[in-house]
Amino acid sequence: MISAEILSVGTELLLGDIVNTDAAFISKKLAELGIPLYHQSVVGDNAERLEAAVKDALGRADILIMTGGLGPTCDDITKNIVANVFDLPLELCEEAAGDIKSYFDDIGRPMTENNLSQAMLPRGSVALKNNHGTAPGVLLKGKILGIDGEKTVIMLPGPPRELEPMFNESVLPYLREKSPYTFFSLNLHLYGIGESAAETVLRDIMSESENPTVAPYAAEAEVRVRITARGSSREECLTLCREMAEKIRTTEIAGYVFAESTSDDESSEVLVRHVIGMLRERSMTVGTAESCTAGMIASKIGDIPGCSDVLMGGVVSYANEVKTGVLGVPDEILKQYGAVSEECARYMAEGVRRVLGCDVAVSVTGVAGPGGGTPDKPVGTVCFGVSDRNGTVTSTEQFGSKKDRGKIRRFTTSAALMKIVKRLREN
Ligand code: ATP
Repeated sequence: MISAEILSVGTELLLGDIVNTDAAFISKKLAELGIPLYHQSVVGDNAERLEAAVKDALGRADILIMTGGLGPTCDDITKNIVANVFDLPLELCEEAAGDIKSYFDDIGRPMTENNLSQAMLPRGSVALKNNHGTAPGVLLKGKILGIDGEKTVIMLPGPPRELEPMFNESVLPYLREKSPYTFFSLNLHLYGIGESAAETVLRDIMSESENPTVAPYAAEAEVRVRITARGSSREECLTLCREMAEKIRTTEIAGYVFAESTSDDESSEVLVRHVIGMLRERSMTVGTAESCTAGMIASKIGDIPGCSDVLMGGVVSYANEVKTGVLGVPDEILKQYGAVSEECARYMAEGVRRVLGCDVAVSVTGVAGPGGGTPDKPVGTVCFGVSDRNGTVTSTEQFGSKKDRGKIRRFTTSAALMKIVKRLREN
């Protein structure tokens, strides 16, 4: 079985100025292709260290995918180093030179001489078209003195908007032929059960099944059970995953599943997409009254294109004057129970539903910290209200007094969305 490695080039990556999203993107694709990846590395724009890293990686893996350092400037050294390692000269690739010239014609800018250096490729390599920039990618196969076997190096430009389409258009079809397998995951999204409790329920299934594998893991405000199958096609994997999902749904886990997603989905948006889908099915609109999240719930819904048929609006009711003046929370409620109370959350939800004229409204009021906690209502205490034509329900969650402010606000946002799901399911 062939194996691959990723080597990202760029001092900016080492300094933490940019995040290595290219490696994350490629890793995910390799996993889907079923090509084992055991190492990822990053090196700065330094010839000696880069050459050593290329040799190290090719000593271990059959295919090395490199990112960055293909630009026209003198610190872009990737091709020269790879040419050195294979002991090959750089030669002008006429086709790549033609592409670079037409790229500049297209954007109406003059081409400088150093741009043509991007068309200098190690002898015998294949240029990969760059439809979104100037630097062509490079695919080189060959032998290296002192290292056994034939090795392949694939060099891709650093900018993700160039790398990602180039990978999908040129590299993916090439790698697909090399891999006999594909991997595919189906995720069950759970709410209201912890990771360890889910693992306890699933322990037998997890230890009995090798393909697909089953593993729970904690994500923000939810737990996911990831079912991963290996097969010769996506369809074969999907069938294996579906059978396993059915088996899991015969356990008590079933009561906690709110959605399913696959490895093709943007899983962080599963919950909010689910909420929007449920509202749409029912032709209902939603509104929010947000104290401690200050608009995050509405914003999360607003992230999804086409949400305008369900999202009516939101009121950021941080100050008590807004709670009373805009949402109609009675002064006595604030005095008697405080702003962080289920009573206040009830009035906020009912108030925003009335003000916006939406079908369902959610409210949140809590202590996001780090200050403001009391023995009664420590940091992390959040009260929720959900109101619809059948009435209003309230609840309180404690997300943990040691959690940081950002986490508490994100957990609150997910919990609020989940509470809308629950309410819609009940009615
Ligand atoms: P260019 O032709 O733009 O110079 P390049 O192949 O030489 O492309 P670099 O100079 O290494 O690439 O990086 C250019 C930009 O691409 C970086 O400033 C950064 O924004 C982005 N980039 C580079 N490497 C990565 C990476 N591994 N992950 C995400 N973005 C990256």
